[in-house]
Amino acid sequence: MNIKHRAKKKFGQNFLQDQAVIERIINAFNPQKNDVVYEIGPGQAALTDHLSLYTDDLNLVEIDNDLVPVLQQKFAAKDTVTIHHQDALELVLPSINTRIIGNLPYNISTPLLIRFLYQADKIKDMVFMLQKEVVKRICAPVGIKAYGRLSVMLQYAFECEELFVVPPEAFDPRPKIDSQIIRLTTKKNPAKVDLSRLEALVKQAFAQRRKTIKNNLKKIITEQQMRDLNIDPQARPETLSVDHYVAITNLID
Ligand code: SAM
Repeated sequence: MNIKHRAKKKFGQNFLQDQAVIERIINAFNPQKNDVVYEIGPGQAALTDHLSLYTDDLNLVEIDNDLVPVLQQKFAAKDTVTIHHQDALELVLPSINTRIIGNLPYNISTPLLIRFLYQADKIKDMVFMLQKEVVKRICAPVGIKAYGRLSVMLQYAFECEELFVVPPEAFDPRPKIDSQIIRLTTKKNPAKVDLSRLEALVKQAFAQRRKTIKNNLKKIITEQQMRDLNIDPQARPETLSVDHYVAITNLID
């Protein structure tokens, strides 16, 4: 059973090797005994080995048929660890106050984040490793180029906090890009809005970034309605705040 696992590109497998980085991630997450924790993509258990020491309800979500038996064997004696052999994109969180952690497969990180957004009422917080560029986009303040669909959608439901950067040398195989840790903490009282309508509106608003908001939303809202919401119809989509997008969505509801 000591055959080295061959990393699979299709599952975005870049395994963490650097113990100092692993410990920093665990410290940032700060797992507690009574937490309900889901780890997405445990892989070869780089983070899992630590998490299993701290929490009494650890759920591992892994898709790879070759890695699941290794994990099952490794944690066979631990009844505090449950292995879910499934696609994380189909995960339905069963309880409230869930904490989620993962060195995410980069090829599915955006759809995965959107899936968790729709289950935000069941989530307490999440600590993820993502491509650095994606972390910058999620956390971007209004008005800068990186601010876009992902920033509006995730900032609507979560406090988004950039943590430290992780270089390619921390992994095997090494990715071509820098990675970064992000913390997303669920907001207690986000403004009321239908999330799927907000998502559709934001998609339309950013359809052509270089056009004005008036142009991108011309079939949806009039110039006067924009002015009534204190929005300049000539503004570019990246200059509208999350609250503006929520207000437009609720107006056209
Ligand atoms: N956590 C390990 C580490 O830090 O070394 C592995 C991280 S690796 C970047 C991503 C992990 O996610 C792999 O174990 C991969 O098999 C798993 N994975 C990829 N796609 C998945 C999916 N759709 N659902 C669940 N797990 C997935």
